[in-house]
Amino acid sequence: MTITQSRIPTSSISLHFIVVGAGLGGVTASIALTLAGHKVTVLEAAPILGEVGAGIQIPPPSVKILQAIGALDEVLSNATFPREFQIHSWKEGKIISKQNLIPYTMEKYNSHYLHIHRADYHRALVNRAIEVGVEIVLDARVNHIDFEKATVATARGEVYSGDVVVGFDGIKSRLRSFILGYEDLPYDTGDLAYRAIIKVSEMKKDPELVPFIEEPNIHFWWGPRCHVVLYLLQGGESCNVVILTPDTLPKDEAVQPAKVEELLELFKDWDPRLNSIFKNIHSTSKWRLQNSRELSTWTHEEGNVIILGDASHATLPYLASGASQALEDAAVLAGLFGRIEHRGQIHDLLNLTESLRKWRSTQVVQGSTQCRNIYHLPDGKEQQLRDMKLQISPPKIGCPNRWRDPVFQEFLWGYEAFDEAERGWAEYKKGKIAKYTFDSLYDEVKL
Ligand SMILES: Cc1cc2nc3c(=O)[nH]c(=O)nc-3n(C[C@H](O)[C@H](O)[C@H](O)COP(=O)(O)OP(=O)(O)OC[C@H]3O[C@@H](n4cnc5c(N)ncnc54)[C@H](O)[C@@H]3O)c2cc1C
Repeated sequence: MTITQSRIPTSSISLHFIVVGAGLGGVTASIALTLAGHKVTVLEAAPILGEVGAGIQIPPPSVKILQAIGALDEVLSNATFPREFQIHSWKEGKIISKQNLIPYTMEKYNSHYLHIHRADYHRALVNRAIEVGVEIVLDARVNHIDFEKATVATARGEVYSGDVVVGFDGIKSRLRSFILGYEDLPYDTGDLAYRAIIKVSEMKKDPELVPFIEEPNIHFWWGPRCHVVLYLLQGGESCNVVILTPDTLPKDEAVQPAKVEELLELFKDWDPRLNSIFKNIHSTSKWRLQNSRELSTWTHEEGNVIILGDASHATLPYLASGASQALEDAAVLAGLFGRIEHRGQIHDLLNLTESLRKWRSTQVVQGSTQCRNIYHLPDGKEQQLRDMKLQISPPKIGCPNRWRDPVFQEFLWGYEAFDEAERGWAEYKKGKIAKYTFDSLYDEVKL
């Protein structure tokens, strides 16, 4: 990959940031803010660091952020490089749409598209955070905040004070309720996700599964009320499977261990190769999927406190872009605070971060929800129209394969977070806080 120059400016004043949450977003923010010249303390509720045992997709804008914060080499050494998206029909399994990734994303976006195990991704970020001097405090669940003093208290009674508090505390964010002054919880979408990792050595025993393991691609099956995503991880030694189905979890449980038999029953009429794949699953769990509504604000009215990542824009994972939005939030925040000139600008820059990031993450949340309707169509007229549109070549605006829609793809993959911060800062210095919308930026392409 062509090495790009790090584009994190270094501030002439040093602030102390308290980042709440050491997920992918919080750790990325902690590295970027440290490189921007600030001191960062991360408070994490869990007693040990880690991530769910599953894969994750990393699109070009995040790859560029990883490059800029110095975490890309370790990520690349653990990543798989998929060659293309392949969408299969649910029953026969025939390919109904493709999108090239190699060499396409490098030629068009100067970046790879990657797959990685979440644990490897998180470890690479934590290693880099420690290397640059971030302080990470475990078993530190924040349960109180004093907005005036930018002070938080943990469940163990420890108190941390800083200049800015950044809540990357995920979908069940406490900081969100503190900022809003009421609980605005993400809502249940009616879908859940089974996640599992399969040993490729076991899949190899079945010749009909060879197409899924001989080269790294991303396979989707779209069908009535469900879809399946499959891709290789860990040098092609394991295969990540995500299965999206209607939510059958009990109301008060968000995660539960699940039985393979449930999957075999749910998918008995689908491409028979799916059941052959599922038979290799030894353990799986199912997670309820939730979505957020656009919040009235991410920033406290007076205090120097903001929420970012899933805390402010949890999304269905149907565009595989939730974590990438969290990384972009982190990069824009650091890009702005790398330029700060005096403390009087702190609150403006938090508002500016929100303004620069909200329109885009809202578009991703809404786009992911729209994907649900596209992927899960029952057989019939609408599905036939969808499949007909998939065949149009070259793809047009509105292509149901959103990664192939020329405008939406450019929106999703062409974003440069550090450039966005630079642009936002320039406008701020001219005396305005920019307000962007998808339409204002993409009007001319739509014509
Ligand atoms: C099935 C599925 C597949 C997905 N696939 C993709 C994909 O391919 N690509 C992609 O980009 N995204 C994907 N996502 C979305 C992605 O996982 C999330 O958007 C991302 O992990 C959010 O990161 P975050 O740092 O904002 O929050 P989290 O990762 O949720 O981190 C929050 C952290 O805060 C801590 N915390 C919570 N409360 C407190 C507190 N009070 N005090 C201190 N610490 C606290 C938590 O312990 C946790 O460590 C997927 C999601 C799902 C469900």
